[in-house]
Amino acid sequence: MPRFEGKTALITGAASGIGAACARHLCTRGLSRLILIDKDEQALAAFSADCETVRHHGDVANPALWTKVTAGLDRLDCAILNAGRADSAPIVDLDLANWRQVLSTNLDGMFLSLQCAMRAMQDAGGSIVLTASVSGIKAEPGTAAYGASKAGVIQLAKVAAKEGASKGIRVNAMAPGGVDTPIWDQVAMFGDFVEQHGSREAAIAAMGELATPLGRFARSDEIAGQIAFLLSDAAATITGTVLVSDGGYSL
Ligand code: NAD
Repeated sequence: MPRFEGKTALITGAASGIGAACARHLCTRGLSRLILIDKDEQALAAFSADCETVRHHGDVANPALWTKVTAGLDRLDCAILNAGRADSAPIVDLDLANWRQVLSTNLDGMFLSLQCAMRAMQDAGGSIVLTASVSGIKAEPGTAAYGASKAGVIQLAKVAAKEGASKGIRVNAMAPGGVDTPIWDQVAMFGDFVEQHGSREAAIAAMGELATPLGRFARSDEIAGQIAFLLSDAAATITGTVLVSDGGYSL
């Protein structure tokens, strides 16, 4: 099991789902300091972790947030750039405002957070994981904005890996398939599934069974463990890779 004693990690989208699971996971493995970022002020304040924590409430796509974060950043070893939003409109119905909203969070926000993390790691190096999605690799109806943004995240990780290598900065992308988190409530088709199957839990189970050879969605804590591996010294020679964790969905 990788350990993170003495290290500082920054996590975006930290108040829920995969980001919150990563925060908990790193704390139980000795991490010293967490910098947590989320736009959901209440959930961010309510989140409790077992190590020193600094919280910044704001939109990752707002440059002013990153000025504030950078000002308080004296050391950064790890970054999990994970804030994201979904949309499920088909192209013929997708309006420009929704398209821009998805790209703003998933790409503008990812670019600004990546820039902040890489600048903070220029002298001592570090390790970064960008949360992409299998939707950035495999096309499905209704994923135009989300899938295009996540394909962009994958390419951003690869370029950053090349640019950061000589400074000792490793950058990888994590591409989950289905994970049981609240993000599914932003997907219209999921609402139909919940109605059809009688509960959220049954809908998640049915989608996992239908869509994946392994027969189930991942849990946030499983994805967190895989991200921790990519961040850790156990992955010291891995950079610019895309770790697909989708139960075989994209095969
Ligand atoms: P989630 O909704 O539980 O968590 C996302 C968090 O990001 C929330 O706390 C939200 O407030 C925050 N956030 C959203 N937009 C933000 C913004 N503009 N600024 C700051 N914070 C913002 O969802 P999750 O499933 O944990 O999602 C985490 C990442 O994993 C996302 O990038 C998502 O696209 C990706 N992902 C999720 C799945 C899945 O099935 N859950 C699959 C593949 C990829």
